[in-house]
Amino acid sequence: MPKKPPQNAYYFFMQDFREEQRKKGVNYGNLQEVAKAADPFWRDAPPPVRAKYEAMAKQAKMKNNVPEKKYTSTGISLAEIDQMQMEQQKAEEDEVKDIKSFVKLNSFSSNEALIHADIYLMDVNYYCQAGTEFIIGECTILRFNLIDGIKDNYHEVINPDRIPPGYVSDIKIGCEEYGLDMPDSSVRTSNYFQILALTIDYLKQDRSHGNNTLPPVYTMPDKVAPVTNFIQQMCSRASEYDRLFRVYKLDTLFYHMINALKSHEDEGFPKPSLALTQLKKDQFKYNPGLGCESHEKKDKSVECTLSRTQRWAYTILDSVCPVAGIEALPGCHVPKEFHVDSILNFKEQRKDRVGPSVAGSSGAMISFNSSMSDSYADTSNSTVVNKSNTSTQSKKSQQPMRMPKTDYSAALRPAPELTESDLLSASFAQAAIAGRGRGRGLPTNINKLGDFPKLPNK
Ligand SMILES: [Zn+2]
Repeated sequence: MPKKPPQNAYYFFMQDFREEQRKKGVNYGNLQEVAKAADPFWRDAPPPVRAKYEAMAKQAKMKNNVPEKKYTSTGISLAEIDQMQMEQQKAEEDEVKDIKSFVKLNSFSSNEALIHADIYLMDVNYYCQAGTEFIIGECTILRFNLIDGIKDNYHEVINPDRIPPGYVSDIKIGCEEYGLDMPDSSVRTSNYFQILALTIDYLKQDRSHGNNTLPPVYTMPDKVAPVTNFIQQMCSRASEYDRLFRVYKLDTLFYHMINALKSHEDEGFPKPSLALTQLKKDQFKYNPGLGCESHEKKDKSVECTLSRTQRWAYTILDSVCPVAGIEALPGCHVPKEFHVDSILNFKEQRKDRVGPSVAGSSGAMISFNSSMSDSYADTSNSTVVNKSNTSTQSKKSQQPMRMPKTDYSAALRPAPELTESDLLSASFAQAAIAGRGRGRGLPTNINKLGDFPKLPNK
C-alpha cells in the first residue's frame, strides 16, 4: 500500500523536488535532508506553484478519511490527477474562448479592426530547468499587426540572479545550445523587478483591451511553460499579481485569425494543427540579420529570441496578408533582406561578410524605450542589459491595473473575461499599488488579499 497522504503543501512539494533531484543524480538520505534543500525553492516558489501544492494538500486532507483510494507511485491520488487535468482542460478551453472573442470582436462589422489590432509575441531562452523553475537567459516581446507588420520589440539579455547549486553543467549545455553567455555573478545580475516594470509598460501601450488590462502574449506551445514561469518569477520578486498576464498559444490565434479573414473556401486552415505546422516550418529561419548583437556575434541568431519572434510574425504575415488583401512591405511584413537565395546560401555567405546589425537590417525594428513606472523605479539596484533602455527614462504615473477576480485558489489561470465589476475603485487600486512592492511572497496572495475588501462574485 502506498503511504498515507501527507497533510501539507510543503510535503507534496518536497516529493516532487526529491524526484527532480533524483533525476539529476542528487539523492537525499531522509526527508529532513530533502526539507532543508527544498526550503529555499519553496519560499521562492511562484504563487501558482504554491497554489498547486496547497490544492493538493487540501484535496489530500479532504479525502483522508475515504478508504480504498488509488495512488500513483509518487503518492498523489488519481482523483487529484483527474482534478488537475480538468483544471488544465478548463484553462485551455478558456484560452480558446478568449482568442475567439478577440478575433470575433475585431472582425465583427468589417475586418478593419482585426488588421489594425496589435499582437504581442513573447519568447524566452532558458539555460535549464531547475526543479519547478526555468533559469532564463534572454527574453523578447515583439509587437506587430497585419496592416503595419512588425512594429517594435522589447529585448533583454538576462544575467540570472539565482543559480541553484548543482546546475552548473546543465547551464553550460544550455549556453552552447542556445548561444547564451554563462551567468556571471561577479557583475550585476538582472533586476527582475525592473524587467517586469518594462514588460508591463511595453504591454500597456495597448489600450484596446481596456486601460486596466494587459493584452495577452502569444508564444509557441512548447514555450508556454517557460514564458509563464518567467513571468511568475518576476511577479514573485515584485510581489505583483501574475494573473495580470495571459500567455496563449500562437498557433491557436493564427488558426482563428486567418479563418476569420478568409473570403474563399480554399483559403485559411481547415484544421488547427496546420497553423502549428506552418509555424514550425520556420521558413525565415536562416534569414540574415534578425538576431540580437550577442547572438549574431556567436553566429547563433537562429536561437535568438529576437530572431524567433520576428520569424513567427513574418510566418503569420506571410500567410495572412494575402488572405486579407494586404500588400507585403519589405522590412515590415517580410524581412528586408528576404530573398530565396539569401536564405539558401546564408550559411556560406555568413562566413564571408559581416552580418548587419539588427537596427540596420530592418527599418521597422525600433528599439523600445520605456518609461519606468514610479512604483517600480528602483534604479539604485537595477541592471538593464539592453542599453537602449537606460538612456531615455522619463517618469509617468502608474495607471491602476486590473485587479484580480476573487477565485485566488485556482492553480491554473482562466482567461479573464473583463467587466466593470472586475475593476476595483480607483482609490482602492491606488492603495493596493502603494502598498505593494516590498518583500516577497504576496504570492499565495490569498493571505495578503484577505485584508482587501471583498469583490462581488460573478
Ligand atoms: Zn539574442
